[in-house]
Amino acid sequence: MTPAVEFANVSRHFGPVKAVDGVDLTIVEGSFFAMLGPSGSGKTTCLRLISGFEKPTTGAIRIFGEDVSATPPHLRNVNTVFQDYALFPHMNVRDNVAYGLMVKGMGRARRHARAEEMLALVKLEGYGDRKPAQLSGGQRQRVALARALVNEPRVLLLDEPLGALDLKLREAMQDELKALQHKLGLTFVFVTHDQHEALSMADHLAVFNEGRIAQIGTPQDIYDRPATRFVADFVGSSNVLPPELTRALGGPAQWASLRPEATRLAQTGPVSGTVIALRYLGAGTRVVIRAGETEIAALVPAGQPVPPEGTTTAIAFDRNALHLMGTD
Ligand code: ATP
Repeated sequence: MTPAVEFANVSRHFGPVKAVDGVDLTIVEGSFFAMLGPSGSGKTTCLRLISGFEKPTTGAIRIFGEDVSATPPHLRNVNTVFQDYALFPHMNVRDNVAYGLMVKGMGRARRHARAEEMLALVKLEGYGDRKPAQLSGGQRQRVALARALVNEPRVLLLDEPLGALDLKLREAMQDELKALQHKLGLTFVFVTHDQHEALSMADHLAVFNEGRIAQIGTPQDIYDRPATRFVADFVGSSNVLPPELTRALGGPAQWASLRPEATRLAQTGPVSGTVIALRYLGAGTRVVIRAGETEIAALVPAGQPVPPEGTTTAIAFDRNALHLMGTD
């Protein structure tokens, strides 16, 4: 598997701010790679380091094996789709898409033909004469994609590409982006702070925390086996158990994560608590139990009895569902 993008101990500091701090990373060619993390964790700076709009303070970046430290952005074979799309409002859609080709000196007829091909690829045939203001948010997003793809980049960078779209459109575009990436076989790297988006779209993801990578892996790795408490908390729905509870449940005195789907309710058991919240989810009910300081969610499948709020219940689970974590 060819590495498309490699970071070797890359840092980018802005004065005292360590925006990116000692990152090692390999993104394999053809992958759909997500950079996930809270606001300010360094994701966008990493993307800008790949595109060349930012230079590392220390460390090396390679794109398809070539050290790009001295390579300006337009010679990197990489294009970015920005969250605000950055379309030129006075140009029609066709000219927006053809812009990069015009800059390269391609003749009008050829570049318009290429622009039409790209518009067909993003399902916008017939929209070439419109101005960006005459398009919906999702259509503008596709024009921005076509405008990046027309340059035939080997790596496409997407900075919160779906952030401006409403939920329904966002979900539709997630599917379309995935299909497009599959069809083109390009390497896509996208930044998001939405864990559902990262888990559902990416084949690999890096979870960022304070300029460092807390974990890299497949969505299953990150979801089922979070390496640290930070990852378990940020990625979301897992229960995070402190060492004393893990021990009470038969494990070592270590932090652990336990997925709600793997957590059951029982009559008796070493850990019990009070039901403090119930949420009906259609396919089941999410029951939240408070055991001491810790809240533990269990997913009770539809059709099984749900204890009322305020009652006491014990929890049970499959032993191999308890995942031990590091301390940081
Ligand atoms: P968001 O999700 O909010 O976009 P992010 O994870 O992409 O956040 P970055 O934009 O990479 O985070 O920023 C990381 C840190 O570096 C932040 O503390 C930010 O304020 C700081 N930073 C980024 N760019 C600069 C700059 N040009 N000058 C000074 N500080 C910067």
